Amino acid sequence: MKIDPSVFQAKFPHHCSLEHCKSRCCKGGVWADVEEKEVILRNAELFVAYMRPEVRDPACWFGVTAEDPDCLSGMAIETNVVGDYCVFFHPNHGCSLQKAAVDAGQHEWAFKPRFCIMFPLVVEKGVLIVDEHLQDIWCMRHENRTHPVLASVDREVRHLFPEAIASFNPELACDQPSVGDQSG
Ligand code: SF4
Repeated sequence: MKIDPSVFQAKFPHHCSLEHCKSRCCKGGVWADVEEKEVILRNAELFVAYMRPEVRDPACWFGVTAEDPDCLSGMAIETNVVGDYCVFFHPNHGCSLQKAAVDAGQHEWAFKPRFCIMFPLVVEKGVLIVDEHLQDIWCMRHENRTHPVLASVDREVRHLFPEAIASFNPELACDQPSVGDQSG
């Protein structure tokens, strides 16, 4: 995986704030890896209690599949949208996959799709970039983007891309525009 130089200049709020954004990044659902889908379905009973009543049937959780070389398996599957939000979103719990994992004593991202964890970063054609498509949500508005994005999502990036981060020296960010050929 390569890191686009723009990532080192991009800004983001100090941290996510559900109070401000109301999880609007979850409105459209997400493209998960088909292997992530299998793990979610194998653990379905963990999540049901956190989900809205109308989406508790696992048969309605996922939609179409598509080839995606940026998924580790090469195949992506969309999470369905019901009531204008991803099926896994609950207004009281945020992401049901994350809330259930925490309550079950597991890592908070044990079941969350990696493309959700990395937002506002995204991997496109093997390059880590900033996803600038959702300009109208709170965290992507210019006035709220006050901190370097890599500092704001440092924990997420270290979790997802430990090899890339281990070989990158942030002190040299301007002189070191990309990290080449790391497995993400
Ligand atoms: S899986 Fe969770 S974090 Fe990802 S879009 Fe759905 S509700 Fe949001």
